[in-house]
Amino acid sequence: MNPDVIVIGAGAIGTSIGYQLARAGAKVMIVDRGQVGREATGASAGMIMAVHGRSTPVPLVALASESARLFAALAEELKLRTGMDIGYRRVGRLRVAFDEATEHQLRLERGWQVDHGAIVSWLDPASALDLEPALNPTVRAAIYYADEYQLLPVAFAQALSRAAADLGAIVREGAAVDRLLIEGDRVTGVAVGDERVHADEVVIANGSWAGGWSDPLGLPIPIRPMRGQLVALRTLGTALRNVIDAGDGYALTKPDGSTIVGTTVEDAGFDARPTASGVEGLLKLAPQLAPRLADATFSGAWAGLRPGTPDGMPLIGRLPRWRGVLLAAGHFRQGILLAPITGELVADLVARRRPRLSLEAFDPGRFLVRAA
Ligand SMILES: Cc1cc2nc3c(=O)[nH]c(=O)nc-3n(C[C@H](O)[C@H](O)[C@H](O)COP(=O)(O)OP(=O)(O)OC[C@H]3O[C@@H](n4cnc5c(N)ncnc54)[C@H](O)[C@@H]3O)c2cc1C
Repeated sequence: MNPDVIVIGAGAIGTSIGYQLARAGAKVMIVDRGQVGREATGASAGMIMAVHGRSTPVPLVALASESARLFAALAEELKLRTGMDIGYRRVGRLRVAFDEATEHQLRLERGWQVDHGAIVSWLDPASALDLEPALNPTVRAAIYYADEYQLLPVAFAQALSRAAADLGAIVREGAAVDRLLIEGDRVTGVAVGDERVHADEVVIANGSWAGGWSDPLGLPIPIRPMRGQLVALRTLGTALRNVIDAGDGYALTKPDGSTIVGTTVEDAGFDARPTASGVEGLLKLAPQLAPRLADATFSGAWAGLRPGTPDGMPLIGRLPRWRGVLLAAGHFRQGILLAPITGELVADLVARRRPRLSLEAFDPGRFLVRAA
């Protein structure tokens, strides 16, 4: 029996969409060429950073705030449906300054955030060290975001996928979509090897690889992979209590006890391997953030490909000139944070319900206008 909707990609975005569609009663098939949550999603730090800075586009701030708000109920719902704990935990974030110029930037940042209703505290070095004893004592000042969260990203995608499957969705791993099936101006399904699967709607949610559908659809889908590397350390001493965020890098202790340090932002094509210089930079950064990390043992390094877009905003919506196809990709550095709202909005679009937030700024057609 053909599904109503095929979702291409089982990262945080595809599984969230699949879950919301299944929850709304649609017959869904989620197809991934690898395993659930093992690409960018699995590589991510899993931070749910609710407070944004001056440089974030306004529509993205609204999208992110709404998504952050949805997490607590979603984590609970997934636990009830699947028994899985996605590691959703509150973790404060200290945005730290070690030099005068950064301190000045932080003051401006805080002013903007307070003007926009965020609850953020300014800390002198003594208060910052009180909150985070592991922090480098040369800190000059910090902003404290008390109400932020983190989770285990692979568990998050797996729980979404399992919850969708419990609701009747078919989740296929190891199944690459080789091409879209097209009849006139309509996408009618996908080809997986020799097999053809038809559906009323196809949702493209394959992250950094979504740009590959530009040619068959004859539309610009300007999504590019931006590599990010992370290292994982094990400490004998107490874990970090907070995320230590220096702007160009961060450290945090995950619910599984490992402390991760990230990250790079590199244009390295589709190469998702960590490099010697990337790892070296992160290992140097670790003790600059928290000196005790110099004694930590090294437990691993990995990289993932963030789906980047020219304007830093995702592409969510129907594709111009085409019927039967939607796009939800390009979430760059915030795909975990934005997964819950993306799932809900795409489910609304498929059901032809009015989405709860305006999607105008995220319209995939915006690049077509620019290209014309
Ligand atoms: C180092 C690092 C740290 C990060 N930290 C954070 C963070 O703290 N918070 C946050 O919100 N975000 C973070 N991100 C960003 C976040 O990981 C991404 O935005 C998010 O994972 C994108 O999800 P996705 O589902 O679009 O893509 P992916 O997770 O890459 O999933 C796409 C899926 O599509 C599949 N696929 C590709 N082509 C095909 C095909 N032809 N057929 C079938 N399947 C296909 C792939 O196998 C893959 O599973 C981080 C990213 C990195 C790399």
